[in-house]
Amino acid sequence: MGTRKGLKLRSVLMLLVIGSTLLTAAFGGYFAWKMNKTSLTNGYLESNYQYAKKLSSNTNELLRIMRTNIDGISQIATKLSLSQKELDIWYEASEHYFNAILIVNNDRVVTAANSQNGGNMVGTELTSLASFEAVQQQAPLISQPYLGSASNRLLVMISSPIFNERDEYVGFVAGTVFLNDNNALNKLLSEHFYGNGSYVYVADKNGHLIFHPDQSRMNETVLTNDVINKAITGRSGAQQIVNSQNNSYFAGYAYEPLTGWAIIAQTPASIIEEPLKRLIGRLVFQSLPVFIVILLIAWYVSYLLSKPLFDLAAFSEEAILSPKASSQRMPRINSYIYEVRQLNRSINNHFNLLNKEIRLDGLTGLANRKTFDLTIAEWLAEGVPFALILLDIDHFKAINDRYGHLIGDEVLTYTASLIKRFSRSHDLCFRYGGEEFGILVRGGTVAIATQMAERLREGIGAEASPTGSPVFVSIGISHSDGQAAEAKAIIEMADKALYLSKETGRNRTTVYEHKQAGQ
Ligand code: GH3
Ligand code: MG
Ligand code: MG
Repeated sequence: MGTRKGLKLRSVLMLLVIGSTLLTAAFGGYFAWKMNKTSLTNGYLESNYQYAKKLSSNTNELLRIMRTNIDGISQIATKLSLSQKELDIWYEASEHYFNAILIVNNDRVVTAANSQNGGNMVGTELTSLASFEAVQQQAPLISQPYLGSASNRLLVMISSPIFNERDEYVGFVAGTVFLNDNNALNKLLSEHFYGNGSYVYVADKNGHLIFHPDQSRMNETVLTNDVINKAITGRSGAQQIVNSQNNSYFAGYAYEPLTGWAIIAQTPASIIEEPLKRLIGRLVFQSLPVFIVILLIAWYVSYLLSKPLFDLAAFSEEAILSPKASSQRMPRINSYIYEVRQLNRSINNHFNLLNKEIRLDGLTGLANRKTFDLTIAEWLAEGVPFALILLDIDHFKAINDRYGHLIGDEVLTYTASLIKRFSRSHDLCFRYGGEEFGILVRGGTVAIATQMAERLREGIGAEASPTGSPVFVSIGISHSDGQAAEAKAIIEMADKALYLSKETGRNRTTVYEHKQAGQ
């Protein structure tokens, strides 16, 4: 394994798939979360708004009934002469509305009274702002809540004027309601059964809390509250608010037209956190198997895609490092990808071309000297027995001189083709250099090599060369029995034999005399 520089294609593909899947999931999750949040928020805002509106209309209805009650008494109490007994009957009928019903003269002195706790107020002079207003305006009134002087409790007074037969104002009938007592108004405005942290509170038109689940906040001024400010100016709606303790709420608000009270129903915004968390959890849990399947598919596909390229890259890396370029084989590449197929094809072509260039002689197309050297070394290393035939064209210089180098070249090519023709496919024909050639006869004995050489020599001598007449060659033969020997020695032996052929008259074959070996 060499050191491979750069990122592997498979890793990049995997990263791409993991990255894009995660990103898609993250965006999907984010939008799901956002849509759910919006829809939950809108749901709570809407339901609180509806609740506040309903409460406002119920309160309005209740106050109308209460006022009708007081009006009824004032109609029959024209002479302030309503007996205690008559008042008792009236009171009994509306006991769950009022804590007390009083008949008051125009000096604000109580002339008849009936109350839940039975305290007799007859003869008492009323000093509340509401009683002054009642006398002053001589009209039906619903007071803003105020602290009763005797009880020190928040109460509301509903009053109706009394006129005598001559239509002179003589006083008023007053029904009083303690806001924190057990009565219809209190029940309506303080009993709510949300059970999810939601609650309702009411402020009078001056911004004082008059109903609140936290009793300690009663009568507190809350004009900094945005929704109260909106409601006491006659608006209704819903919005998300942050209170003084920095808690966020979904608030619905409405306005009660008879009193100008602000009614607010609100739910802590944290209520949607849990379902949102559950949603994200479910999303992650449900998409995990899909994610794993996608990863496995991506891994497999990126393996298929990158394998051929990886093999090609590994091959070219080894081909560069290996000294035996001639024996390298291209890997088999199976790919359906156009680019990979094309790349493989062109690398293949280039590689084959390069291989040829390195291995073959440019002029004759036979193996070159380098290939001969490699092959002889290989056969020696493998212990393959072989014969070496070396041949040299006789008087080639004269051919060059007489016919020119181009014809000389043609003679060389022609001679090479004859050498090829007279050899076997597993022999190696090569150009040793200049006008010297050779054949490595694989497994060849001296006898076989001699036979081949003679046939070749006679063949060449019998055929017209590009000069128009035959050329002749001198041949030297040596042999290796596959036992340890050096290439150099074997070449030298063939060379010596060739020299002998030249010496002894050319156009002949000489076998190197090896002790007892001979022709
Ligand atoms: P001998 O019979 O002793 O072998 O004589 P020779 O003339 O063949 O031998 P010598 O070595 O004197 O001459 C070889 C010539 O071959 C010299 C050189 O110019 C020529 N030659 C070598 N390579 C090439 C080639 O590629 N093309 C051509 N045209 N001539 C070449
Ligand atoms: Mg020569
Ligand atoms: Mg020669």
